[in-house]
Amino acid sequence: MKIQSRLPDVGISIFTVMSRMALDYGAINLSQGFPDFSIDRKIIDLVHQFMLEDNNQYAPMPGTPVLRSVIAEVIDRSFDHHVDPENEVTITSGATEAIYAVVTAFIKSGDEVIIFDPSYDSYDPVVRLNGGIPVHINLSYPDFSVDWDQVRARISNRTKMIVINTPHNPSGSILREADMRELESIVLRDNILVLSDEAYERLIFDGNVHQSVLRYPALASQSLAVFSFGKTFHATGWKMGYVAAPAFLMEEVRKTHQFIVFSVNTPIQLALSEYLKVPEHYESLGTFYQKKRDFFLEQMKGSSFVPLACSGSYFQILSYDNISKKSEVEMAEELTKKFKVAAIPVSVFYQDKSEHNVLRFCFAKKEETLAKACAILRTI
Ligand code: GLN
Repeated sequence: MKIQSRLPDVGISIFTVMSRMALDYGAINLSQGFPDFSIDRKIIDLVHQFMLEDNNQYAPMPGTPVLRSVIAEVIDRSFDHHVDPENEVTITSGATEAIYAVVTAFIKSGDEVIIFDPSYDSYDPVVRLNGGIPVHINLSYPDFSVDWDQVRARISNRTKMIVINTPHNPSGSILREADMRELESIVLRDNILVLSDEAYERLIFDGNVHQSVLRYPALASQSLAVFSFGKTFHATGWKMGYVAAPAFLMEEVRKTHQFIVFSVNTPIQLALSEYLKVPEHYESLGTFYQKKRDFFLEQMKGSSFVPLACSGSYFQILSYDNISKKSEVEMAEELTKKFKVAAIPVSVFYQDKSEHNVLRFCFAKKEETLAKACAILRTI
């Protein structure tokens, strides 16, 4: 039987490819973004306790009310923004499901969606699966900032949504207040929705403030903000996240969410609702990861790799321009197979496959892992 692929140009995600290659070649895996250290024992005990107490059946479709209420408090505390937990918060199976549910809820055939490259690999395919047209705009290099004049020039009467991501994966750049003001003026004038991927909201360094869309009331009134517990609590394998949005938008998101996963697992939601009551559990993350970034950079001193600025996320971009002129994909392969350190080529996140001779390294690792990797990288 012949089938017609709906995504003929899409292969297996680069994260899967590189993690697999790291495993096959026994390389230190700084490619796919996930911590190699244990999560807090307290939250494991909470999950266990809620399971033993018979909380093992379906959660309500939008999420357990107690978790949604605590999230509303966290949002209030963090961004000085009020959301109604009943109608404006939905628990999802990670940020990736949230993105799928949001795009599917609003994008239809012919709708244009602005995406900034390098972009997280799910945005473009999800838009296309819904018949939408991704409009890719490259961030400037090497600071990965947005050229808002270019954005204004690419808006058409079919522009339905702009996707932003701060702190940014893969670059580690962040949006500033001035960016949010530009975005706000554009989307308010032209009635455009904002999908704000804030998975790395807590991983922000050097005294910078996370610019959530939720900090800006007018912007928040037409935005859907997506968050990730996997990133915040080092538990990427739990696939837990949430969306916050005004009720009239959330009503539509729940329609798609309920047919993607229906609801998200119950005991972890209950455990998170307890764990989130202690702000220290999430407010210490910036300092924690800034130390890791600094340790990584310190260990890289004297190397021929050159670090680019990193203000957030757990990714550090390194330029190998002084070392080789190989393509990023070739360089990532050589690094993994020959030198036994795996990283992610950034070119795969560009629609036009832009090459800057840079690789993305994940520093969400134990110091000993980072030290071992850097000892190798310093020899190259
Ligand atoms: N978000 C992680 C990264 O950027 C990986 C996600 C995934 O493997 N799908 O590396």
